[in-house]
Amino acid sequence: MQAFDYQRARSVAQAAAAATSTVAQSMLREPGSGSGDVLLKAGGIDLLDLMKQELLQPAALLDLRAVPELAGISEQPDGSLRIGAATTLAELAAHPLAAQRHPALCGAVGAGATPQIRNVATVGGNLLQRPRCWYFRSAAWHCVRKGGEHCFAMRGDNRYHAVFDNSGCAMVHPSTAATALVALDADVELADARGRSRRLALEDFLVGPQRSLQRENDLRPQELLLALYLPRPSGTSRMAYLRQGERESSDWPLAEAAVRLDFGADATCTQAAVVLGSVAPRPHRALAAQQELQGRRIDAALAARAARAALQGATPLADNAYKLPLVEALVHRAVLAAAA
Ligand SMILES: Cc1cc2nc3c(=O)[nH]c(=O)nc-3n(C[C@H](O)[C@H](O)[C@H](O)COP(=O)(O)OP(=O)(O)OC[C@H]3O[C@@H](n4cnc5c(N)ncnc54)[C@H](O)[C@@H]3O)c2cc1C
Ligand code: SF4
Repeated sequence: MQAFDYQRARSVAQAAAAATSTVAQSMLREPGSGSGDVLLKAGGIDLLDLMKQELLQPAALLDLRAVPELAGISEQPDGSLRIGAATTLAELAAHPLAAQRHPALCGAVGAGATPQIRNVATVGGNLLQRPRCWYFRSAAWHCVRKGGEHCFAMRGDNRYHAVFDNSGCAMVHPSTAATALVALDADVELADARGRSRRLALEDFLVGPQRSLQRENDLRPQELLLALYLPRPSGTSRMAYLRQGERESSDWPLAEAAVRLDFGADATCTQAAVVLGSVAPRPHRALAAQQELQGRRIDAALAARAARAALQGATPLADNAYKLPLVEALVHRAVLAAAA
């Protein structure tokens, strides 16, 4: 790994002004030419990996963990929950109000990676981590996402890759938190060096291959992810999150399903969110499954129909069709668990 400077940021303005390049932009430059960049570091779990893999060569890392606006979880006057971007995954998983309101989210976050990683990794860094695709992670393969001409996963070993939305690049979005957060209609707040901020739905902030093949989100240079906002759930809202992996811990899942259901007075489902993770370049909203559930009373037969509908539009690759029955089973169980 190349030598680099380490600094601590004290304010949003200072950090945003220094970050003239995003990590995605820095990785697109010729090896060595991105070496003047100052890059933002939170827990450093993903960033340091990329540096050790010699995919990034920054001149300096600017640590965000002492910036006060990025810290803490608090209830807002409108009843929503604000989660500072530098909150660790362990803090979020154990936060009393977050766990009471959003047990499925806290369960999802508390099940990812390992206890050691969750104690250091932040919510912001988790959402902004780069893909785990093994071709992307190797300096030997200059794929489309790094500015090359080919997606090597298309004809290569694609067993862990996307089964939806996978033309051009078949990466799967690596954030477990994102799957549950999209189902909860979370917003993100970003701030720039001039003190201007913007707020948008997390679902729109995460960018799929149609919008770009070389970045996974809409973070701009000289911009910081400040916080996430979770709307207060209605009294009849229920959510379940399930994941299936090759092993129980220390690894990313093979497939995930987050299902949030709202119910009317007569127990019919008034609104449904069905979001799939680890199967597409961004959390995948299963619209046909949502339509199947809305306006109906949930029972085992309806859950099974919704689970089948969740596969609509799937385009599995040579090695990953096994993900389809996994998705179907996860959605089926998550619908029943949310309705129980
Ligand atoms: C063995 C292992 C298993 C794992 N399993 C899972 C899993 O199951 N599920 C899962 O979701 N993840 C998993 N991970 C990934 C891990 O959770 C992420 O790498 C971690 O959450 C990244 O957070 P961080 O704070 O360390 O980010 P960093 O590495 O510090 O930063 C990541 C990126 O975000 C940018 N950044 C960070 N904060 C901000 C901010 N506030 N504003 C602007 N830019 C910012 C950085 O510049 C960088 O580009 C696993 C990792 C390992 C090593
Ligand atoms: S799936 Fe995406 S990240 Fe992986 S090789 Fe193809 S273009 Fe690169």
